[in-house]
Amino acid sequence: MAHHEIPLSRPDISELEERLLLETLRSGRLSIGPMTEQFEKLVAARAGCRHGVAVNSGTSGLHLVLQSLGIGPGDEVITTPFSFVASSNCILFVGARPRFVDICPKTLNMDPAKVQAAIGPRTKAILAVETFGNPAYMDQYASIAAKHELTLIEDCCEALGTSYKGRPCGNFGRAGVFGFYPNKQITTGEGGMIVTDDQRLAEMCRSLRNQGRPLGWGSNGGTPTGSWLKHERLGYNFRLSELNAALGVAQMRRLDEILERRMRVARMYVSRLAGHPHLVLPTIDPESAMSWFVFVVRLAPRYTGDERDRVIAGLRRHEIGAGDYFPCIHLQPFYRELCGTGPGMFPIAESVSQRTIALPFYNSMTERECDDVCKALDVMIGQENLAPRA
Ligand SMILES: *Cc1c(COP(=O)(O)O)cnc(C)c1O
Repeated sequence: MAHHEIPLSRPDISELEERLLLETLRSGRLSIGPMTEQFEKLVAARAGCRHGVAVNSGTSGLHLVLQSLGIGPGDEVITTPFSFVASSNCILFVGARPRFVDICPKTLNMDPAKVQAAIGPRTKAILAVETFGNPAYMDQYASIAAKHELTLIEDCCEALGTSYKGRPCGNFGRAGVFGFYPNKQITTGEGGMIVTDDQRLAEMCRSLRNQGRPLGWGSNGGTPTGSWLKHERLGYNFRLSELNAALGVAQMRRLDEILERRMRVARMYVSRLAGHPHLVLPTIDPESAMSWFVFVVRLAPRYTGDERDRVIAGLRRHEIGAGDYFPCIHLQPFYRELCGTGPGMFPIAESVSQRTIALPFYNSMTERECDDVCKALDVMIGQENLAPRA
């Protein structure tokens, strides 16, 4: 068992982040400045997009994209029930409704055939998530969207830095959104980024993140038209501070190193857990290179949700971080009430979500820590096997 706490995640902050943060702090410019602009350029370039719009969270980014696209009451957006709740909440924020479709058990992304079948007269957009950093089917969603004149929005919050069939994540839809919460591949503390090739969309998002100031205000705030207190539309304050952006610039400069470290940790787990009789491991498909966000294993199909919960509780008792990524969105109480969803509607997502265990996963994880996690996992699973079955 572990001799010290092994957290579920841990940000990787180097001297570069400290240096840029301190420089920014001393510069006197704490919002709307050169760091934000630099961070926007770095993320947009990585996603192969012309524009980047930095915001204060991934959730804010999704909200602005949907609102800028004019999605609203009466519209439906096709999306996955197996995700972090923000990927659906943004649809509710603008008054539209999610139309959930079930996932494919191998990739955990929406089943493209079910996406196609769910298209109806109210469908305006497809909001696709690269679950746990797996970009599988993004090209198929893009061609379904094109064929039916729908907008594809990519919630690539879990997939920074990877690509699929030669196309970078963030580049498949009209817009992509990244998130930089501390458990993501890179972090700014809190933060997010919209990426797009569509200049009008980028400008609308810039205006909405900045209190509805006129189109054309850049991230550096400089534009000759109008005053700082001219507000052309109802906007928000979703700006990212220069301090957060400084962290982002440093993290982006180190992105390849960071992704490589995460790959190393994923390999450590796979080498220890491959062939495990009670576990299903993430599918590693050479065609869809994961950007490793988290390392999520699943108990075998014969296990129940209660058994999984006890395994997680057991790991936590031994100071090993573990998470139930993700409970189904359509089963959250307010979704049941608002959208009329309930158990049995998306059986694959429900079955998978009852058996997932996110294991500790961070760049500095050692072989020893990985051993400790895998041993503790074996002990907890063993206890479930010995327990009398109802
Ligand atoms: C992290 C994440 C987001 C955004 O989260 P924030 O905490 O708002 O930055 C959105 N969608 C998915 C799928 C995510 O994993």
